[in-house]
Amino acid sequence: MRIVKPHRSPEPASEAPILEADDVTVSFTAPGGGFLGLSKREVRAVNGVSLSVRRGETLGIVGESGSGKSTLGRALLGLEKVGSGHVTFDGIRVSDGRRAALATLRRRTAMVFQDPANSLNPRLTVNETLAEVLRVHGKVPRGGEAARVAELLSLVGLDPALGDRRPRALSGGQCQRVGIARALAVEPDLVIADECIAALDVSIQGQIINLFLDLQERIGLTLVFIAHDLAIVRRLCDRVAVMYLGRIVEEGPTEAVFAAPRHPYTAALIAAIPEIDPDMRLPDAAMGGEPPSPMALPDGCAFHPRCAHAEEPCRTGAPPILARRDGHGWACILAPGTLLSPSPTPARHQTLEISA
Ligand code: SF4
Repeated sequence: MRIVKPHRSPEPASEAPILEADDVTVSFTAPGGGFLGLSKREVRAVNGVSLSVRRGETLGIVGESGSGKSTLGRALLGLEKVGSGHVTFDGIRVSDGRRAALATLRRRTAMVFQDPANSLNPRLTVNETLAEVLRVHGKVPRGGEAARVAELLSLVGLDPALGDRRPRALSGGQCQRVGIARALAVEPDLVIADECIAALDVSIQGQIINLFLDLQERIGLTLVFIAHDLAIVRRLCDRVAVMYLGRIVEEGPTEAVFAAPRHPYTAALIAAIPEIDPDMRLPDAAMGGEPPSPMALPDGCAFHPRCAHAEEPCRTGAPPILARRDGHGWACILAPGTLLSPSPTPARHQTLEISA
């Protein structure tokens, strides 16, 4: 089956950021190595992250497990306590825990979660789930829920007749569409989707991505898309931020990052995409080993134990700062002109072909 959808309009997103993070850290305490494990130590899951999201834009946040991308996503929506730094939503400081600011976030943002079935209440039908959200947020006059629920189900490509079913009677893809409909029910200014396709079959993943592309086109959805699949991020996102051990190591327009990655970690992630031509993979883009524990970060650049380009200053100097030039930034001491791993196929916003 091929789903044909219009390509995204080339019009740029609004310049005004709706969401900004400024030097945000999020820390957890973990048992340390002290006597009987009683001492605690701080683990920085997010370490000095700054980013912004403009209206109508899709920002991809990528990285391996443990990179801090999901913690960052939750912190952006007030679901995780920010230790230092600030999160600002539409001009309102929301990271200081004030009730009014958090209420604004609840009212105007939404999250789509990884596990579609478990993120829905198993006792409620689809209609009841969506009607409850509409009631709580006062989105329709009393008695108007049924019509709006049917509209929402149509918007995400579901037959409104499925509204009488409970989650266990739906497929994974249908559950995730309900999850997206629930997010859209609050008419959010911003949606954060956290690994929302990771648990789905490949063909269903394609359907959900096509749905997001369609929503970008039809309602100008502003989306932060957290994922570890760079091929999908490339198709869906206007800009991409690459995280490694709690820091953003590269950030910029998606095609600029994929065509000429500046950080060896980004190059290695791109080189590992199965669809990239093997002849285009450069040996120096290979990445060895696992990331170090966030509880025992190496000195210098945290990526140096895995980096083919590492030199003495990488091991002993201060961690490189993310420096931006013309909207593209990276945190590495390599000279800006260093070619790491070009990626040949422009694919942004292409609708996926889906085999039934
Ligand atoms: Fe590699 Fe050094 Fe750049 Fe870190 S700073 S990514 S170790 S070259």
